[in-house]
Amino acid sequence: MKRQLNIKAFTQTKRNKTDNPTSENVSINQANLSELPSTSKHYTDNHNLSLTSNSNNSMSNDSDKTLRAAVNDIGNYVHNLEIDDLKKEELLKTPWVPHSTYIFPVKTKRNLRFQLSWIKRFPWLSYSQIFEGAFCRPCVLFAREKGGKGGHQQLGALVSKEYANWKNSLQDFQLHASTSYHKLCVEKSDSFLKVNEGRSKNITEQLSIERSRQIEQNRKILLSVIKTIILCSKQEIALRGSNDFGNVMNINSFNDGNFRALLRFRVDSGDTILEEHLKNGPKNSLYTSPGIQNEIISICGNIIKSKIIQRVNTAECFSVLADETTDIGRIEQMSVCLRYYDKEDKKIREDFLEFTPAVDLTGKGLATLIMSSLQNNSINCHFLVGQGYDGASAMSGYLHGAQEYIKKDFPMALYVHCSAHSLNLALANASSLPSIRNCISIIQTVGTFFRSSAQRSEVLRTTIIETLPQTRHSTLVALCETR
Ligand SMILES: [Zn+2]
Repeated sequence: MKRQLNIKAFTQTKRNKTDNPTSENVSINQANLSELPSTSKHYTDNHNLSLTSNSNNSMSNDSDKTLRAAVNDIGNYVHNLEIDDLKKEELLKTPWVPHSTYIFPVKTKRNLRFQLSWIKRFPWLSYSQIFEGAFCRPCVLFAREKGGKGGHQQLGALVSKEYANWKNSLQDFQLHASTSYHKLCVEKSDSFLKVNEGRSKNITEQLSIERSRQIEQNRKILLSVIKTIILCSKQEIALRGSNDFGNVMNINSFNDGNFRALLRFRVDSGDTILEEHLKNGPKNSLYTSPGIQNEIISICGNIIKSKIIQRVNTAECFSVLADETTDIGRIEQMSVCLRYYDKEDKKIREDFLEFTPAVDLTGKGLATLIMSSLQNNSINCHFLVGQGYDGASAMSGYLHGAQEYIKKDFPMALYVHCSAHSLNLALANASSLPSIRNCISIIQTVGTFFRSSAQRSEVLRTTIIETLPQTRHSTLVALCETR
């Protein structure tokens, strides 16, 4: 309380003085002064100091013990770990600098004192009026407790305590400037200022930018791989070859499959991102392995399936078509298709949903399989209005057929004998008539007669062109074998 009164008295006195304060005089506020370390009671007015010719007595001359300290005196912030960024920036950019008329105190008998020119020579150097010594600003603000070799050396003069031995100052300053911890602190303070002035992005932002760039790059690489797989799928060509291992970019004498050949074709056509990835990318994440190919295929399948499901649910009315057959691995598979009205395209569509292995081939077992396939795919079965299967009793039976079990739960789901199966059955029955059987047999024999010889085919072709010049057909097509 007494101190504050003194300050008030001091500032009032100050205002009454006729002589102008020096430009370096920093405005004082009471809050700042009350936060000053206890050493601050030794300070004297700048103005008083500059007027005192005998600097040895400058302290003792301050008889009224008024307090005066520059707000941006680095001495205020030694050992202070909680300096806010704004203050740090202020201390680095506009530190307190003694006026040219400032009389630096002499501590030793040799009459040595701080020289203002040193501040120009060492830009990191600051004089503290509070400590009557020199400090390194970046080190005070950014150094850790310890530095030196291995980071075990306690940091002393210029960092945690004032440097006031003016005997070998220049050498000592140069030595300090050459230490690794000082260089690190200077670097830290430079980056701090850059970030604060918005010239540079902080480390989190830099990392996030780098991360986004990496993600963007990886997406471009994956896009090339995915497009190649989709091309193979659309054109119904096999992806893999007999020997598809090793570096994709190595051209082998053997066929290493369409997928790898198409990747090389993309690179040849100017896909530089893919080229860089295949040549220099990490070998454990090239995203070209058979496992990845299968994963991408199944992801594409899931996307297509989810679109079909969405359309079926939007249609609010659909039929289910199902049939089982034994695959090449001797596993009984049930194929499930959906027939619905596509509101977007305004036409009726039939889409394949999935294959499910069938173990229980009874009517009840097959009904459960069909319904669980629909429900597992989140299809709203309340919109099920039709069922289409072959005529097998397990499917069509009106007592224990799959259709009857499904109709019990969804009475709207009427069973219709699949028209494709009906046509197949009609043709099979018709061909049992001798005249139709003979006709088909003659057509087949004539076809074989011409196809088995290039010479006969040529004769047939020229004859067709001569007799029917408008026709697009010039060969005989073999009959499709049906069971
Ligand atoms: Zn330093």
